[in-house]
Amino acid sequence: MKTGYFTAPLCLSLSLCLPAMAGTKDDNERDHTTGPGGTPPVVNTIPASTIKDPVERFVESNVLETLYHEMGHALIDTMNLSVFGPEEFAVDFFAAILMERVHDEVTTRQLFEDVTHAYRADDQSDRAAGVETSSWDNHGKPMQRYYNMACLFYGADPDGRKHALELFNLPDGRADSCAEEFEQANFAWGGVLEELSEGTPGTSITLDWILDNDSHLTQYVTREVAALNRMLVMPEPITVSVIPCGEVNAYYDPDPREIIICTELSDHLAGNAP
Ligand SMILES: [Zn+2]
Repeated sequence: MKTGYFTAPLCLSLSLCLPAMAGTKDDNERDHTTGPGGTPPVVNTIPASTIKDPVERFVESNVLETLYHEMGHALIDTMNLSVFGPEEFAVDFFAAILMERVHDEVTTRQLFEDVTHAYRADDQSDRAAGVETSSWDNHGKPMQRYYNMACLFYGADPDGRKHALELFNLPDGRADSCAEEFEQANFAWGGVLEELSEGTPGTSITLDWILDNDSHLTQYVTREVAALNRMLVMPEPITVSVIPCGEVNAYYDPDPREIIICTELSDHLAGNAP
């Protein structure tokens, strides 16, 4: 089926910080040495790689990438950032940069594997259903987003991640430019993240509508919102809601400055888990 998540009628975006995050390192984090390209140490909460249940881990990886993507929209909105090119691509790159900066190597690899698997699954579902992926959509086609993610992962550390070429079946024609693509995206979003890291920890992101406090999705989003607050302070308060939407989706609404994570998203992802 054609999934609408990551699409948002009114998406905007956000990003992440870094140097200041060093102090928020979670007990679960394994490696906080210098990141790719000399980026600051990183930190985070719940390494996807430590999740026992593979389906839960897969859902969490993709929900996290979605949350980062929507944060990218929130950042573009609240910081009034200039966007040179399609915003949806920019916030996909933001999500990738954040995944790269905030997590240790093992977790980062798992995140990228899970996120790219979800894009491939969407592509295969579309093909099976005879659905033509839309070239007019402001989001990239699933496999385009797959290769963008794969390229940024490889490009963050081409020497240390040669395995990624085969893992993601990344053609030489694309791989050759991945280091430069990562460097460009990391430079663009890095300054934003560093600016937001001042004054951390913050409380600028709060949960709003939560219909089921005990659900796995709600609990995971709650933990990751807390992690984001430890890493950055938004210029304007934003809220995050986890609610049924009647569709598989997630989006940022700039009017109330709210990120909506639809509960249908986790069910959809669970069905696409490897
Ligand atoms: Zn979006």
